[in-house]
Amino acid sequence: MTRRPIIAGNWKMYMLTGPAKELAAALAKQVGRLADRDVVLVPPFTALAAVKEAIAGTNLALGAQNGHAKNEGAFTGEVSMAMLVDAGCRYVVIGHSERRQFFGETNAGCREKIKAAFAAGLTPIYCFGELLAEREAGKTFEVVRRQLEEGLAELDPALAPRLVIAYEPVWAIGTGKTASPAQAQEVHAFIRDWLREHFGAATADALRLQYGGSVKPDNVDELMACPDVDGALVGGASLKADGFARIVQFRS
Ligand code: PEP
Repeated sequence: MTRRPIIAGNWKMYMLTGPAKELAAALAKQVGRLADRDVVLVPPFTALAAVKEAIAGTNLALGAQNGHAKNEGAFTGEVSMAMLVDAGCRYVVIGHSERRQFFGETNAGCREKIKAAFAAGLTPIYCFGELLAEREAGKTFEVVRRQLEEGLAELDPALAPRLVIAYEPVWAIGTGKTASPAQAQEVHAFIRDWLREHFGAATADALRLQYGGSVKPDNVDELMACPDVDGALVGGASLKADGFARIVQFRS
């Protein structure tokens, strides 16, 4: 089964609208016509409109870094999934480790957001991974299993194949320490086995698994060569057009 690769660039809390537009325009020029992979730009909320305009008419897609589980309401400072669709998003990142670490997001909260994202017509990118202490204590699979069980507990099996999962070991995010291809593949295979057990072979074969954690132009090829790595969620290295364009055009 060949899964369509999906590379997403998470710009985090970087980029005012001017530089965001420039970066998006440069990427539109360099990799905007690729038809054999999905490429998603995930700017901060304030730059969504500028990036949308810069990538109009290309194959690049727009994503958001977070969204609220409720459709609307008195939730000052929050943005609903419907608002993200309205802003031109097709994807939403859910449960990024920085949201978990700094904003108290939980697996149960992610579960609600995943449901809301699908209900609004977005593709959720559900992120999770173990902390360094958990890995060193030999608890990686236990932690990942819990993140799967709790986050995906109420996922409609009919929607499951469309979900994107980003395995992002927390110790590799923004640290320059990348998981080795063997480490990434081991956890991805575990996730795919779990998916097979809970949603069946067709879903497990179709669902795309991204690796995230210090993906760079010089390590993307070996990571993408792993049989269960179908894409990458890229933070720091997505902020420079040439580097991200090279990541998008991985060779494996
Ligand atoms: C991320 O933001 O999801 C990420 C993986 O960051 P970095 O590539 O900088 O480690």
